[in-house]
Amino acid sequence: MRPPYLLLDVDGVLIPFPDADGTTPATHGRHDVVPGGRNAGNPVTVWLNPAHGPLLMHTIRSGLVTPLWCTSWRQDATTLVGPLLGLPPIPHVDLPRPRITTSHPNGYLWKRDHVETWLGDAPAIWIDDDFTSLDHTWAAERTALGRPTALIQPDPHVGLLAEHLVESLAWAAPLTLAQAQAMATASTLGAGKDSTLVLTPPA
Ligand SMILES: [Mg+2]
Repeated sequence: MRPPYLLLDVDGVLIPFPDADGTTPATHGRHDVVPGGRNAGNPVTVWLNPAHGPLLMHTIRSGLVTPLWCTSWRQDATTLVGPLLGLPPIPHVDLPRPRITTSHPNGYLWKRDHVETWLGDAPAIWIDDDFTSLDHTWAAERTALGRPTALIQPDPHVGLLAEHLVESLAWAAPLTLAQAQAMATASTLGAGKDSTLVLTPPA
């Protein structure tokens, strides 16, 4: 059994966009990193909130979601960004590098078609700052097809808040428990026993 995916963006979520005057939230600290394929003498400056590390670890350790990077940082999210927050290696959606001048070349987030292929029938909650109304319609339609899908859209100048992760866990918990209960019931039936295991959410 695999808990629902939690897809996580980086830019505008973990790394907030600067305000018009160039400032970033005081909660975030500066790091210089060298993405793959870039010259070591030409690092990229990023701003990360050290509090995000424990929050994300708490989310991961809940076992209620399967974390997955979904970002144009691709593998660098796993090898560069995550470790700066103390995160273990998290898999990433292998997004292509399209030649696009907008993140919504077809009116919706460019990542979405790749995510849909990647997910198949799997349920997912997706945190990204760049959805359009078409993405929200897509999520509703996917849910109606029996593939529970939820989108969370932080303010890109603020980024990820604890409440976004609480919302993710609250969304995932019933799904994960239902999966576990179905498996337990099937296991019980397979053993030829006439009993029902009822799982209740943790307090
Ligand atoms: Mg983004």
